[in-house]
This record gives sequence, C-alpha cells and structure tokens, in this order.
Amino acid sequence: MSNRKKKGQMMEEAPVVTQQGPSSHEPSRWKPLQYALSLSFDSTSSNTYNGSLSLSIECVEEVKSFVLDFYTIEGKIIEVSAIQNKLKPTAKCHELPGGRQIQINLQEAIKPGRAVLNFRFRGTIRTDGLGLYKSQSTSAWTLLCTHFEPNFASLCFPCIDDASARASFILSIQVPPDMTVHAGMPLKHSPSTKNELLSFEFEESPRIPPYLFAFAVGRFIVVEATFSSVCENTLSPLGGEISTNIPIRAMVSIDHYNEKMRRDILDRLIIAGSQSLHACEKFLGIPFWLPKIDLLALPVMLLAGMENVGLCFLHVKEEGDPSEALSSAETDVLHEIAHQWVGNLVGMSLRVKEGIVQYIEKQLSEKLFGSQKKSSGRKKAGQVKSMTNKKTQGNSTESQLQRDFCKELNEEFYQKSLKAVETAVDVMGEKTFQTRLASVLNEYALSYLPDEVAHERILRLP
Ligand SMILES: [Zn+2]
Repeated sequence: MSNRKKKGQMMEEAPVVTQQGPSSHEPSRWKPLQYALSLSFDSTSSNTYNGSLSLSIECVEEVKSFVLDFYTIEGKIIEVSAIQNKLKPTAKCHELPGGRQIQINLQEAIKPGRAVLNFRFRGTIRTDGLGLYKSQSTSAWTLLCTHFEPNFASLCFPCIDDASARASFILSIQVPPDMTVHAGMPLKHSPSTKNELLSFEFEESPRIPPYLFAFAVGRFIVVEATFSSVCENTLSPLGGEISTNIPIRAMVSIDHYNEKMRRDILDRLIIAGSQSLHACEKFLGIPFWLPKIDLLALPVMLLAGMENVGLCFLHVKEEGDPSEALSSAETDVLHEIAHQWVGNLVGMSLRVKEGIVQYIEKQLSEKLFGSQKKSSGRKKAGQVKSMTNKKTQGNSTESQLQRDFCKELNEEFYQKSLKAVETAVDVMGEKTFQTRLASVLNEYALSYLPDEVAHERILRLP
C-alpha cells in the first residue's frame, strides 16, 4: 500500500499495522462496485452457512483472471460464473497458496467496462472473535456478529478486503424464524418468510470498505430515539440536504446479561449515542451522514468497540463490575461515533484514524460523561488478553489469526497514534486542527486519505 512506507515526521513514531489486505494488486485492473450478498443460516445448531454473492465490477482493461480475498481454510467456493452483457465465459476457481485468496480464471477475457462475478459458497461460523463469529463456544448459537477490521471480511465472503477498495453493499440474510438481523443500513421492508426461514433485506449502503460492513443475528431488545443535526451547515458530505429525525437505536441480546443490566445498557447507550452525535457534529462542523445509527452491546468481543458503518458494536462484559462496564461503554460509544466521520466517511490508515479519534474522545468525554478515565489507548490490548486468557469462560477459542491481530493492535500502538496527534495539535492549536480536519473530511468523503496527505493536510506543523 502506498500509505505504509511514506510518512512524515509525526507519523514516524507510530508502529505500522497491516491495515490493507493482501490484495492490493487487483484494483488497478478492475475494481469492485457493488456486493450483493445473501447469507442463509438454516439452524442455530449448525456452524456453517450458505452464501451467494453477485459482485458488480468495473474492468479498466481486458481481464481474464481475477484474484479475490477469501479464507479458504474455512470457506469453500461451490460455483463461480462471470457475466458481461450476454457473454458468459467458462469460469474456474482455485485457491492460492496461503489459503487466503482465490483466483478465478476465465476462458475468454472480459472487456473493459462493467461485468458481474457470481459466487456460491459455504462458510464457517468462527469462535475466535474474528470474521463472522458466535458469542458462545457451545454448538448451538444465540448471537452471531461480525468483526471485519482490518481485513477479516474475507473470512466471511469473497471480496477485495482492502480499506481503499470501497463499494456499496446490498445484504439479505435468512435466519430461523425466532431470530432477527440488524445491519449497517435500514431494512428495505418487513422481513418475509422464505423456505421456512425469515428473510431480512437491507437497503444499499454508500460506498464503504468491506471492513466496515457488519451485521448481527440474534434476539434483541431495542430502544429507539431520533436525532436531528445541530450543525449550522445542513449539507450532507455526500451531497444534498441532510435528513432530520435520524433513528438512533440501542440494542442488547435477550440471551445475555440479566434484566437490570439489559435495561441499564439500553439507557446508557441511547443517551451516550445522542450526546456523542451532537458533540462530534459540533467538533467537526459536519452533519452526521448516515440514514441511521445502531449501538449494539456485545458480551464477547476482542476489542472495546467497533465502528462499523451504521451499526457500532460495544463490548460490555457480562461478568465484573457493571458500573465500570457501563461507563467505559459510554466513552467507547463516543469513540466509535467519532469514527463515523474519521475512518468511515473518509478512509485512513489505522494509526492516523486511531490517533485522531482518541484525541477527539479525550477532548469531549470529560464534558459529556464527566469521565475520570484517561484516554490512554482504550484498554484494547488489556481486553484482548482477558478474553483470550479466560478459557473457563468458554467464550473464545484462540487462533493464530487472533494472536497475530492482538499482537499488532496493542496498547502501545494506540498510545503512539494519539501522541502523534497531540504533539501536532499542541503546536498548531485546536482551532487550526479542527479546520484542517473538517476540510479534509469534506473533500475526501467516501474515499481513502493516504498517510502522506493526512500528514500534509492535517498534522503538518505550521
Ligand atoms: Zn478506534
């Protein structure tokens, strides 16, 4: 990736984390435009699922073979085809060494322009907190959710698993009739019954990287409020006027926590969410840009939270001190909501976005929550450890992937990312920082901001 090697003086300090997937080779020849993904979970006692994907692409030149990310150790492509106009060349698929990519070879090349790659595949529900995973290690599941950052979407479905390869997503999910599905976008219509399963179809997302795409399956209690922008500026960074009364929802699984804790979680999340949206809008001067935002408390998660577009996940532990869990969830809500602009609206490398978002969190959390917590890294590494060490809890199975992920995304990484931003803001002043950040967020909406540009435009010293 172009953003990994080149960096200015402020970035030099932060360690390098593999933000991009192994697939940076392809998008110069072709790029993904839209993922129409359908997943089917036949029963809560099954640990596999069936998937189909229609991937719309744009070829820049003639292309005869395509490489995509897909974790073939636990997934299997059953059928693949390519279509361009009426042309349907014979397609063959094989996995590449390493088990993380597949190659599709066509008998005839696809011409420059639009085409569709179709896949039918099977996947496995994981237990290590990565990709698509369940919250229990028992064979039957009550709660499924996703963790796709930085490149674990390809553990769930074939894609270009790269933060700079944005595309829109259309999701449909079939689940047993007592289950519900939530995803980053609003439901298109009420769920319908299909082959004795309940089918949930969601609206098309804006162009996002696969790592920010998310969904959760389970039985949930939901509280809903609405939110209207407090920005003077009423233009959406995506163009057009912003909407009012944007739904904000807090959710918790009824199969986890006790009744009081569930009520407390919902109360705290919905208030923290509304306050955080207003505070971030004021800090950034840019209206919230999504059609809705959901905040889901998860009992099992590798990190403290995850900023998926439109559906943030917050780790609220089931055991331990509830008041501590709730107050750290509040600051995590603020953190993940700030990411909806920094990292989500505009893509950035991990060290840049984490530095900026921790800085925003630190500036706003005291005012919002009177938080005594010092934003030194968000205990992410600590939480990773506690999850992997508690084998007796039976929540998570360690895997090599998980170990590598936790090693890279450690406390030191977060501290250094924050320090780089703080050092720069100390010199330039907060007003200048805010102005620069807002200008870049508007200009780079729905695209990726390379590190050298982030340094030049946001963190450069006067
Ligand atoms: Zn973050």
